[in-house]
Amino acid sequence: MFKRKQYKGLEPSTIAGYLIIVSLAWIFIALFVVSTFTYRIILGTVGSVLLATAVILLFRANRIAQATNFHESIVDTLFESNAVALTLINHHGKIIELNHTTANMLGYEHRNDLIGLPIMDIIEQSSQEALGTALEQVKEGKITSLNIHVLHRSSFPLELQISCEPVIQNGSVIGGLIISHDLSDHKRNIERIRYMAYYDDMTGLPNRTLFQIRFDEWLLRAKEDHFMLGVCYIDLDNFKLINASFGREYADLMLLQMADRLNRLLSEHDFVARMEGDSFALLLNHIDHIDQLLERAQHILEVIGEPYDLKGVPVHVSASMGIAVNIDPADDGYSLFKKADMALVKVKETAGDNILIYSEEWNNSSYERLKLQHEIHRAIQKHEFELYYQPQYDLLEGQIVGVEALIRWNHPTKGMLSPIHFIPIAEESGLIVPIGEWVIREACRQNKEWLDEGLPIVPVAVNLSIRQFIRNDMSLQISKILEETGLPPQYLDIEITESMSIDINEMNQKLIEISEMGVGISVDDFGTGYSSFHYLKALPINRLKIDRSFVTDILHEKSHAEIVSAIIAMAHKLNLQVIAEGVETDEQFEFLRTLQCDEIQGYLKSPPVPSSFFQKLLCSA
Ligand code: C2E
Ligand code: CA
Ligand code: CA
Repeated sequence: MFKRKQYKGLEPSTIAGYLIIVSLAWIFIALFVVSTFTYRIILGTVGSVLLATAVILLFRANRIAQATNFHESIVDTLFESNAVALTLINHHGKIIELNHTTANMLGYEHRNDLIGLPIMDIIEQSSQEALGTALEQVKEGKITSLNIHVLHRSSFPLELQISCEPVIQNGSVIGGLIISHDLSDHKRNIERIRYMAYYDDMTGLPNRTLFQIRFDEWLLRAKEDHFMLGVCYIDLDNFKLINASFGREYADLMLLQMADRLNRLLSEHDFVARMEGDSFALLLNHIDHIDQLLERAQHILEVIGEPYDLKGVPVHVSASMGIAVNIDPADDGYSLFKKADMALVKVKETAGDNILIYSEEWNNSSYERLKLQHEIHRAIQKHEFELYYQPQYDLLEGQIVGVEALIRWNHPTKGMLSPIHFIPIAEESGLIVPIGEWVIREACRQNKEWLDEGLPIVPVAVNLSIRQFIRNDMSLQISKILEETGLPPQYLDIEITESMSIDINEMNQKLIEISEMGVGISVDDFGTGYSSFHYLKALPINRLKIDRSFVTDILHEKSHAEIVSAIIAMAHKLNLQVIAEGVETDEQFEFLRTLQCDEIQGYLKSPPVPSSFFQKLLCSA
């Protein structure tokens, strides 16, 4: 930029100085030759002093010049290799110098391509006026900063933040230095960071963080403007299977297509995000009515359910959706989303492929129940259930005449669980159906095994829930199981409760079919429900089981003793056998004998025991 030529490290001015000194020396020598002695002495002295002084001065001048030159080199280097874009313009606004950074930023390979050009040639029209004003101020010696758009060589605009500073020489402005920062680059970086923080890289959808932010914003708006919104949590039903059988690449391809479908389904008010893996969240705003929300949700599930093209292979997948609506004003984004999640868990537990809206009636205890249902489901698959057997004895002979199969849950963390902890929940959720089927099959299989081993087997009684009757063709199921296991029907009993007998009229036909097979039927917990002797007469029942509560107080509560007595007398009139359950003491045993009860079951004789224990009891019988 500011370079001058040197010769052997000497400044040009120094070389000129030396030449002058040499010339002067020659003049002195010439004068010295032609002069008289006296003049020679004067000339020699004056000449030597003058020449020596001139040489010393010249040396110093050279050093100063060299130092100045050194500073200029530093300035040059600083200019050329500066990471900041620097451009020098002259008084007329022409580019006279620029560094590599500037050239690179503007897309030019050689700086020469720009040198000599009027600066305005590379400024976008919209910024020319502002830059013109700034340059005018530079001419007045002022420094100005502004944002302008310049044209990249590939003709796209770059947004620059520039500072224009005057270049002053000998007190007057001879040009300007422009220092530039590429704001576009800065903005692009910020965009990139923003993208990584708020968007899912794979699908390009917003992520959980952005969803939460937008959700909170919409919830606030909904509160102010009083509109309904629904937050939907979607999860694919068998995505793991797709991942396992097709591989990650295909599974990702499917998620991409799904993201695209969701995006296209939404209106401008709605919002979709990928939460994690195969779960997505939707925010449906400005809902007029719950039915409209359900209709939209249904449509979304249908679209998700359409086949996906995985490199030519059509693949189907269903999804489940839990929804929560902003009904409770106390809800914030977090709690409302948790409700949608709870609804989703509930749908998943009942086989999925469905939609469920969170109900405010669900509370924490129902959440616990949900969890338990989930565990029961898993326990069936993991074979955690086991049957215990409690023998039933003939009161007169003391022989084992029957056995009741009672379920236990060998829970992985809670240990052996009693049925009272899970049967009511299993009944409520319908899980009693698969559990009940397992109980019948297992009891029959076990009894047949004992039969095959030559043991003196007795009928095994299983407890049946009313749900099993409602949901199943029980007579068909029982006959199938008997056939599969090969157990003769007279070695199976079923125990039904009185509450079931209220609906017994409808079940009459089924009970007749079961009875005709040769399977015994007992009425369990007799005396606690609304039993009517009329029903007992009409139905194909073999035995009544007197509820434990009457037996417990039989010696102390006179009315209980009377009830038990009446039941036994009446049952015998109807040709029914009577068994008393919960017999714990000899006194109870003796009293029941005087009342002519037929059979007893209770801790006095044996608690429910594992199959191997009961087998020993049978062997010793
Ligand atoms: P349940 O049918 O009345 O069964 C009798 C219950 O009384 C059993 O409790 C038994 O262990 C208990 N027990 C027997 N003898 C005595 C005694 O001397 N004293 C006392 N205090 N208790 C005695 P468990 O096994 O806990 O069963 C409770 C209930 O769970 C059963 O009452 C039955 O309603 C239900 N349950 C058990 N297994 C099944 C099943 O496989 N299916 C269905 N649907 N329900 C079942
Ligand atoms: Ca029972
Ligand atoms: Ca009972």
